Amino acid sequence: MTVEKSVQRKDFDQVMVPCYNPMEMIPVRGVGARVWDQQGNEYIDFAGGIAVSCLGHCHPVMVKALQDQGSKIWHLSNVMTNEPALRLASKLTKVSFADKVFFANSGAEANEAALKLARRYAADVYGEEKSEIIAFKQGFHGRTFFTVTVGGQASYSDGFGPKPGDVTHLPYNDIDALQAHISDRTCAVMMEPLQGEGGIIPPTPEFVQAVRELCDKHNALLIFDEVQTGNGRTGDFYAYQGLGITPDILSTAKSLGGGFPIGAMLTTEKLAEHMKVGTHGSTYGGNPLACAVAEAVVDVVSDPQVLAGVKEREAWFREGLEALNNKYHLFSEIRGKGLLLGAALNADWQGRARDVLVAAGQQGLMVLVAGANVVRFTPSLVITKEEVDAGLARLDKALESLVS
Ligand SMILES: *Cc1c(COP(=O)(O)O)cnc(C)c1O
Repeated sequence: MTVEKSVQRKDFDQVMVPCYNPMEMIPVRGVGARVWDQQGNEYIDFAGGIAVSCLGHCHPVMVKALQDQGSKIWHLSNVMTNEPALRLASKLTKVSFADKVFFANSGAEANEAALKLARRYAADVYGEEKSEIIAFKQGFHGRTFFTVTVGGQASYSDGFGPKPGDVTHLPYNDIDALQAHISDRTCAVMMEPLQGEGGIIPPTPEFVQAVRELCDKHNALLIFDEVQTGNGRTGDFYAYQGLGITPDILSTAKSLGGGFPIGAMLTTEKLAEHMKVGTHGSTYGGNPLACAVAEAVVDVVSDPQVLAGVKEREAWFREGLEALNNKYHLFSEIRGKGLLLGAALNADWQGRARDVLVAAGQQGLMVLVAGANVVRFTPSLVITKEEVDAGLARLDKALESLVS
């Protein structure tokens, strides 16, 4: 049934700040990995709202948590604490190395807290001159001015005037460059344990090991930005757990709320002590509604069967994508881990990731890109075999339309 809607895509250009260029269709409803637009067209969702909708759309567990909490109490501010926040924090400390949790509302804010903690700790313990933040090229840490400056993409961070200082960018996976640069003046090294926005670039095991060792040698903190990799995305609850090292500070957001905005910074007791009353804060951070939903999400995702299911689904995707590549020869490589996967376009298809995204959309499939040359897949962690097969069949049609 086609219903005349009072709002349409063209209204976006009238009333929205033009920093996005959204697709034509406007989704209005979703169940599991399926979404419907205003006209009732159906889409299979391999994007998951950019690695956010980890239980798909409107999972009954999330809906129940939201409805239950929604009729109890919505907001208090940090003048008081609340039950969902305390329960969620305690669960996050159980599933990770952390002893302490700070709640925020987004990935950027969780990273902002991580960076401020690192700077404060270094200043308190070693002195003001230990302030250098080392981060990596093509890294992404959010859009606040500090986090975007630490992110390694000048096109995102330039053009806004003077930046927060003492941030160095080195090439990812380059042990020699890090070894040559890091010093006792380094306050922290910040990295994604698998670069997401930068093109689905996994770290080498040697690199991760070397980063940890060099941080220890120079008393620098290691900050893992797990905003995209966290909450089961790679098949471990947090990606560091599959890498054999432990960071000092970890940020998490995206899948943490399964679609409800929430972020968190996780750290040790020793570091947390340095964030005394008044040093940092957030009006909404630890909001009861957000924490109630995230608690339900964490309960489901931390189940070992769900985590094992992520690895099983990775295999479905890899097999399906390899089969399509045997047919159409577009990809040089399928990479990533768990359900954070990238299909890198080969030399003949450079720069055309967005064409794949648009062609997929026309066939009723939502995918993402990671830069101009990588098609990214970050679906629900509980996507069904039927949904994966249906989506891959649509991708088949989309690729066919592109090569013909
Ligand atoms: C998405 C992302 C962020 C930013 O999260 P927001 O919620 O958009 O602020 C930070 N770091 C990484 C690795 C991300 O993928």
